[in-house]
Order: sequence, then structure tokens, then C-alpha cells
Amino acid sequence: MPEETFTPLSDTQTPPTYRFFNGKEWVVSKSGKTTELKSPIDGEIVGKLQLVTHDEIDAVLEKAKQVQPLWEATPLHQRVKVMHLTADWIRHMEDYCTSLLMREIGKTTGDAKSEIVRTADLIDYIADEVISLRGETLDSDNFPGFEKGRTAIVEWVAHGVVVCIAPFNYPVNLSASKIVPALLMGNTVVFKPPTQGGISALHLAQLFIKAGLPEGVLSVVTGSGEEIGDYLVTHKHVNMVAFTGSSDVGVHIATKTGMIPLLFECGGNNPTLVLPDADMEPTAREIIKGGFSYSGQRCTAIKYVLGTQSTLDTLLPIILANMKDTVVMGDPRSPETKLVGPVISEAAAAKVQAAVDEAVKGGAEAVAGGHTKGNYVEPTLLKNVKPQMNVVATEVFGPVISFIPVASIDEAISIINTSTYGLQASVFTKDEGTGLVIAKKINVGTVQINGSPQRGPDHFPFMGVKHSGLGVQGVRYSLEAMSRLKSTVINKPS
Ligand code: NAP
Repeated sequence: MPEETFTPLSDTQTPPTYRFFNGKEWVVSKSGKTTELKSPIDGEIVGKLQLVTHDEIDAVLEKAKQVQPLWEATPLHQRVKVMHLTADWIRHMEDYCTSLLMREIGKTTGDAKSEIVRTADLIDYIADEVISLRGETLDSDNFPGFEKGRTAIVEWVAHGVVVCIAPFNYPVNLSASKIVPALLMGNTVVFKPPTQGGISALHLAQLFIKAGLPEGVLSVVTGSGEEIGDYLVTHKHVNMVAFTGSSDVGVHIATKTGMIPLLFECGGNNPTLVLPDADMEPTAREIIKGGFSYSGQRCTAIKYVLGTQSTLDTLLPIILANMKDTVVMGDPRSPETKLVGPVISEAAAAKVQAAVDEAVKGGAEAVAGGHTKGNYVEPTLLKNVKPQMNVVATEVFGPVISFIPVASIDEAISIINTSTYGLQASVFTKDEGTGLVIAKKINVGTVQINGSPQRGPDHFPFMGVKHSGLGVQGVRYSLEAMSRLKSTVINKPS
């Protein structure tokens, strides 16, 4: 795809200063303030993002509110067409978006490419699915004491204006996963991308516009969450907030918004329970992939492994042996790098290292890694970890896996269920029946049996409990969450 597609997004300086999208055009903010984004790979400046003003947020939301009924009245097949066109534009731009994503957030080429491809596939799938979403009619005489004569027409209708907020680690995919179902269900969207990752997200937004969204249906406001977040989510024109990010920010937003629908994907701190009968080779490979992909910066990353002392004594050497070929830390642009590149910033690396240091001080042992240089955190395995250590009690967003010996399955379940998080968990065993029994007792959104925690395939339901989320996502579930049921009852005059 020719680069001029993205021309309105920024000026022509190097590094470019990006604009925000007010629903009609790409503009510079009146604030006169910008934020500089550095690549986590080498500190090179990727570009600058506008800090929008409150007046600009007011104007964008006013417009979104005004055009929403018109957009909801637009025939569904037209809305579907715009989404399929967007998916086509993304595929056309695959290489450009992949290299931008890699530079902006430090993903390996493979991971960045897979995020872009998956996003196009997701958009197509949601656009296909929405066609089969229907309401229903209900007759009154089904309920005891009621005669025939009343009919309820139950329809899916839009919430109104939805604010979509995405995190740095999947700034393209987790933006589309909100924007697309929201728009298809007739909502208008005000999109707040993450600051780091924001440039890739702006490019995604441009492709929606390019595909033909009418004026005001989608707008994009940039600026740090700290500076504009509260104003945005508490605005009187906002009817719903769809957010992905940390549990701390999720809890903060939830306390601010009041009584509007919220769809939240928050932090995960995902445990893996390995039973003595597990097939240790594939289990080891799943733990490596689950813990170290994208340097452990995934909400579904494996963070700690529970097993009896003898199970862990068997498993750890197999993991270490497998890591030799499968985990190589380095510049994510290099084909030699496998799974682990830089974490998003030096501050993030320091936070991870502090949790590792605290664990080691408290008696844990680093059997691999344990050190940080700049924002490169070595792939780290910690053994003899205790559940109350920060490396387990909090979400450590880096390539660190902790191993906790337990005396019994019940003890492991109790540790998992005591956590403030509840996104996913894994159980590894050759006996799927036992896996199912254990899964029933674990209080998380999803339990994976013989697989590492993961979001896909994207039409499966995806949800967290406790501080890991609110509501359910995943193609059909997202469409339903981005709308509400409305009932109209026709009464027969007596
Ligand atoms: P974050 O710091 O919580 O930020 C997430 C988004 O919220 C960003 O766009 C951020 O903007 C914005 N934000 C910050 N403060 C805000 C406020 N007061 N009001 C409104 N918005 C605000 O998270 P992150 O570091 O980007 O992402 C990593 C976290 O996301 C991890 O905890 C990870 O587990 C979680 N995550 C969860 C899932 C899931 O599906 N459960 C998926 C991916 C990631 P700025 O960037 O401008 O600060």
C-alpha cells in the first residue's frame, strides 16, 4: 500500500509529530503539548503524540453523541462492509504496520506480524457474526396466570457513545476488538489509544476512516491516561467504557464512572498447576512459551507454576534444557532473538527486577536469569518462591516464572483462589477427568487443560474475575456486551 494513505496522520518531520482525529480530520491540538515516544529497542524516537485539551474532548464527544442515532440507523450491511474493507486495508498494509509495531513496542517480527494478521481476521469474523445476531419475540401465555395477547419484541440496541481504551502490549488488536463490535452494534466510538503503542493505533484508526466511516462515528484522542483519562471516562456524553489495561487503572476507572456499563480486561497473574502424571516435555514447552512470549508482557502469560517438590524437581531441568533452543534474549528485529526482547521501558524493567530481588532476598533461588540491563530483563526462573512474595502476589509484567512447591492439590487451589487476580489458569495432567474436576474448583475466567493460558481462538469467551476484569468478550460475546436488550411489549386491548 502506498505510504500516502497515512499522509494526514502526521507532519513530514523526522521524527514525525502525529495528529489526533477529531471525527472529521487529523488535527494538531490547541494545547501545544506533545509526548515523545521512544522505541524500547534502542531508545530511538519513533514520533510524538498530541496531548488533547478538555475542550477538544468536549467537541469530539458532542459530535459522537449527535451522529450516533444516524449511525445506528445505517443499514447493518453497510456497517459490515466498512469493517470488511478495513480488514482488507490492514492486510494490504501488513508489512508497514508490522515494522511500525515492532519498532514502537519492541515485539519480534513474528509477534508483530501475527498481531496484525490476527486483527484483520478478527474484524472479518466479527463482521460475519453480527449478521446472525437477532432478537426474539416472547408470548405472554408461557407464564402461569397470563393469557395470550401480549407480545414482547426483544431487540439488541446500541448503548450510545462508547469510549474504548487500549493497552500498550496489543495496541492494534485490542483496539480493534473493542472498536469493531461497538461500531457494528450502532454505537459511535471515542478511542483513547495507549501512549506507547499509540502511533500503531493511530494507523489502525486511519484505516477505519479510509474504509469509509462517516464523520464523527470514530474519533481518536491522544494524551496520557493520567492527564485526560478521568475527564474522558466521566464525561456526561459517555454511555459505556470498554477498557483493557492494568487492574490498578481498571479499579480506578470503575470507581469514577458511576452507573454506566463497563467492559474491562485487566491484569492477569496466571498460575499453572502441574500434576505428577503430566507429560513433562510438552508441559515444559508450554510453560516456556506461556511465560516468555513477548517477554512475559501478556495478560495471559504464565506467572507461577505449582507442583509437589518432586514434580518441580523433575520439571525444572526439562524446562532449562528446552530453553537452550527456544529462548534467546536480544534485539527483536534480529532473527536470532527468540521470545524475549526488551520490556516496554526501563521503569517497567526496574519494577520487574525489584520483585525478583525481593524474592531472592526472601529465600527464592534464580535458576536462570535474575538480572536486568537497561530494559532487557533476562528470562528468569525462580524456585522456592512463596505465594506472598511480590513476584507472585502482584502482576510482574516481564519474563519471570516462579515455581512454588505445594504439599497437595488443595493447597495449590487455595493459593490460586486467594489471589486478587482471576484471568486464566492451566492444569497439566494426562488424566483429563482429573483436570476437569480441578478446573471446577478454580475461580478464574478460563481454565486451560494441557495448554498455556491464552486468549485465542478469538470466538471463545474471554473474561476475568476479581481484579482481572468485568464482562465477557470474544466475537459474539463482545457484540452482545457492546449493546443492550430493549423490550417493547404489544398489549391487546381487553
Ligand atoms: P495501563 O497502564 O493500565 O494503561 C492501559 C490504558 O489505560 C492506556 O491507554 C492508558 O493510557 C490508559 N489509562 C491510564 N490511566 C487512565 C485513567 N485514569 N483513565 C483512563 N485511561 C487511563 O496498562 P498498560 O501498561 O498499557 O498494559 C498492561 C496491562 O494491561 C497489564 O496489566 C496487562 O495484564 C493488562 N492487559 C490485560 C489484558 C486482558 O485481556 N485481560 C490484555 C492486555 C493487557 P496511557 O498509556 O496514556 O497511560
